[in-house]
Amino acid sequence: MLYLDNSATTQIHPEVKDAMLPYLMEEFGNPSSKYYSAAENAKIAVKEARHSLASLIGSSDSEIIFTSGSTESNNMIIKGVADFYADKGNHIITTKVEHPSVLETCKYLETKGFEVSYLDVDEYGRIELDDLKSHIKENTILVTVIWGNNELGSLNDIKSISELCLENNVFFHSDATQVVGKIEINLSNYPGVTFLSCSSHKFHGPKGIGAAFIRKDEYDILTRLTPLLHGGGQEQGIRSGTLAVHNIVGLGKAAELATKHLPDNIKKIKESEQYLVGILKEKFGSQIYFNSDELKKIPGVISVQFRGINNEVLVKSLAPYVAVSTGSACSSSKPSHVLAAIGLTIDEVRSTVRISLSSFIKKEDLDIFKQL
Ligand code: PMP
Repeated sequence: MLYLDNSATTQIHPEVKDAMLPYLMEEFGNPSSKYYSAAENAKIAVKEARHSLASLIGSSDSEIIFTSGSTESNNMIIKGVADFYADKGNHIITTKVEHPSVLETCKYLETKGFEVSYLDVDEYGRIELDDLKSHIKENTILVTVIWGNNELGSLNDIKSISELCLENNVFFHSDATQVVGKIEINLSNYPGVTFLSCSSHKFHGPKGIGAAFIRKDEYDILTRLTPLLHGGGQEQGIRSGTLAVHNIVGLGKAAELATKHLPDNIKKIKESEQYLVGILKEKFGSQIYFNSDELKKIPGVISVQFRGINNEVLVKSLAPYVAVSTGSACSSSKPSHVLAAIGLTIDEVRSTVRISLSSFIKKEDLDIFKQL
């Protein structure tokens, strides 16, 4: 079976698995313990992994807070900012095409008295800068905008958005789950990005581990927020709980590999994508329509309508040979809010399939589409 659902999750890189195994067995110490070697080795491993992730996204090591993944990071940041700065304001701006871990968190905050603006998006799922500008108010405490969309692959103009937020003195969070390890990100060039979320399993690391980037100010102090998890004070007091060392080591290795191979991987994935698009166009002609923007999108993510074909039927019939999806794995039972937000009709939504490639795919593997 050919796995082409890499936006849902990716396979663990063999080197990631090898790096993790010792920390499941002999190196089982708690990095918060002291003096004996098992603890010290675990501490060193966590330190190295933190550095690897920081290098991948261009932050400093101490701006990385390990979490269980982007769902937790998104919750921690949005609820944490809302709670900590409630005296300053109660307005949050987000978009209609966020992941449920952002949208549901915002909806929850509305029940607690916060006001949330959900920005419209263009035909590719991107917000307009002027629209964002017109929504920023005196009491706006946070703007949260997805970096690359999980259903469409479309990329927001994070540079301009972050600059606008910086000018207006508003914190800016971006859910970068789908882009970390997939496109080049250097947060030192984006001073307006205050917070970022990522999950290791989207870039060939293990599941259940991710991170929040929290920017430090010029005095080397982390942007304050109320922790989601209170306890032993790990992760600078922001995220308590014994560190999942094996998972952190896996994330670190995945980040190291992503940093090392990023340009080659992007090139390889783009070539595979072009090849696949060629096959699809030849086979289906005007029956197919691409929902994603060809240029400003995550390499290898294709959202395509097979007109006149029901996507559930198509995905099911392909399943023995090729794994693709009808949309996001997180909300696949509901019609996509993302596709609705870009203006697709219900028939167009029901004929849309998401194909997401990875660097593990060889061009020849895609020839299977010629036979289907
Ligand atoms: N945000 C986006 C854009 C995602 O694609 C996902 C995972 N599908 C998440 C957040 C949540 O990540 P996790 O399930 O690893 O917590």
